[in-house]
Amino acid sequence: MVKDTEYYDRLGVSPTSTGREIKKAYRLNALESHPDKGGSEEEFKKLSEAYEVLSDPSKRQKYDQFGKDNQDLGQVNIQKFWDMFNPFQAPTNRKTATLVYDLHVSLEKLCTKETIKLRVERDRVCDCAITSEKCTVCDGRGVVLQMNQLGPGMIQQIQHSCTKCRGNGKFFEGCEECINGIKKENKIFEVPIQSGIDSDHHHKFPNEGNQYFDKDPGDFIIHIIIDPHPDWQTESANLCIRRKITLRQALLGYQEKLKHPNGEIIELNTTGSVLNPYDPYIIPGKGLITTRDIIIHFNIDFPVYLHEESRKKLEELL
Ligand SMILES: [Zn+2]
Ligand SMILES: [Zn+2]
Repeated sequence: MVKDTEYYDRLGVSPTSTGREIKKAYRLNALESHPDKGGSEEEFKKLSEAYEVLSDPSKRQKYDQFGKDNQDLGQVNIQKFWDMFNPFQAPTNRKTATLVYDLHVSLEKLCTKETIKLRVERDRVCDCAITSEKCTVCDGRGVVLQMNQLGPGMIQQIQHSCTKCRGNGKFFEGCEECINGIKKENKIFEVPIQSGIDSDHHHKFPNEGNQYFDKDPGDFIIHIIIDPHPDWQTESANLCIRRKITLRQALLGYQEKLKHPNGEIIELNTTGSVLNPYDPYIIPGKGLITTRDIIIHFNIDFPVYLHEESRKKLEELL
């Protein structure tokens, strides 16, 4: 249970939302309340403050545990959001669209923190096109004007893409490495797999995506997707597991050797604690990173009926 929900309420999300849901909610809300669009500056600051905390897993955990007022969550840098999220800046069409690749990894693989080598085929502008001559038909503009005489004194002017250079502004026929100036290029990328642990789960290679004519190279983004695991679920780098236990185990203790996805055997022994279905049992520091935990949710199988004899014994004990 979280201590207070104010930040979640500001963004209109629930305390169980994922990092991605929180980011999406922030963007939608910020679009409406951005001062450049007539929104209130105060409102935008409040939203950004909530997002600053909830988008950072460690700040979010502190907030969930202690609330807004009882914890030093650090100074919120509103200017950062202003610059980062400015939906009204002039759109730039110079860059080729981002190339996105989904990299599926198992939880075990993620824990190795290895670097994965990935061979990716991209479209790039061929050297023959880069060094080609300016098209003489359109004078490098890529478009030509066509005049049609419709009648005396009436001239229709139509602009269309230059057929000689196919609208590229440069004339080239292509070479053995490309088709019409675009070549397929293989490149090996080294992806640090621990990028899959943070809340955004992505790794960006700026300007390493596709490239088409008259545009700058686009970015290449690798989304690291953790495959479902039969035992463990992940939640902001915490590792969660569910176990069904008896009432006796809840009261007297439950033991199990848990196998961490990194291969470590973790001795779980709850003897000395009374387990209840509402409070998860925490093994601190054993999550995917040392600042995160193992969280065990117990589902307690209560007896449906107590025999008279058992009831009397319990009455004496409790
Ligand atoms: Zn041309
Ligand atoms: Zn070529």
